[in-house]
Amino acid sequence: MKQATHAWIAVRAMGLIEEDAETAGLFAILRPHTRNAALGAWMPDLADSKLGSGDLDNHVFKMQPFAGDVEERFITDKKALLKALGPARAVAKFIADDATLDAGWWATPYKAEPQPCQDIPTRANAIATTLTDQLILGERPVTNRIPRKFALSSMISPDERTRAEQLALFFFMQSHFVADACMPCHCDKRAISSYAGKLHPQWEGFIEKIVGPEFDGDRVERCHDRPRELLDAARAVDSRAGITFALPIPEPKGGDLWKDAVAVCRASFAVANIVAPPVQFPYDGDKSRALSVKDLKADAAAWGRFEKATAAIMHDAVLNVAMYWKRIWKRLDRKD
Ligand SMILES: [Zn+2]
Repeated sequence: MKQATHAWIAVRAMGLIEEDAETAGLFAILRPHTRNAALGAWMPDLADSKLGSGDLDNHVFKMQPFAGDVEERFITDKKALLKALGPARAVAKFIADDATLDAGWWATPYKAEPQPCQDIPTRANAIATTLTDQLILGERPVTNRIPRKFALSSMISPDERTRAEQLALFFFMQSHFVADACMPCHCDKRAISSYAGKLHPQWEGFIEKIVGPEFDGDRVERCHDRPRELLDAARAVDSRAGITFALPIPEPKGGDLWKDAVAVCRASFAVANIVAPPVQFPYDGDKSRALSVKDLKADAAAWGRFEKATAAIMHDAVLNVAMYWKRIWKRLDRKD
């Protein structure tokens, strides 16, 4: 995803946690720092970040057919995937309605083979754990909002506590990886989905046009004390994207963010295969063969699928960020 899209996703997710009574406390902490979304949500793509969590492999979870040991472990049939995603995700509905991927496709094992601990689900989960610690160790205005009291924060000096603006930056940083999980080309190993091809950059450009110029980094960062303006601008994108959100924000099934993010990536891989069918673009296909947005537009059925997929991706990128934030926030109040 491009910079403005990442900023929009983070700010729009803020709008959802504002409207959900269970996350209103988190919204109150982050609200004054909404403009940090322009930097935080984009930071993992900046050069200096590549030495840390922004390492290139952390932005992808590229799957392909797998033939190896315990290959049945890597089969997720359609029913199982839809169950893992739950009913609230638009991508689940898009996949449920699809008839282009046949039973053979769904019965095939697919696997991503990232560098150890360098992939989207690991990164999204790692920052979530860090955020839980940061909240527990927050400065007084932060811990005052948390529904439960933690003794740990009173054992450290005020200077050592996490400031609300640092928290906002890290929440927005986490949103980057959750958003990347929703971009089909980030989860598809085929040459057709590489950034050097046409589909990947053109699809991201298509989404950025829907988002519009209000979320360009400079503009967002200039909104010092105008979070309401940003939140309203983010909501205004919904109608252009053809999406609506339902409340309350659901929680990831089973509460395991890593597992949930793997399911989101697996769904993104399926979406990539619906938009660029493997019969036309095989897994061992020609590296020079490209698929452009213009090619998709030339075929009414392909264009219909592409437009629906785009709306589902934009909806779910926002929803998934809000779901993960809600999960982090509610974890602070767990009883075990
Ligand atoms: Zn990225």
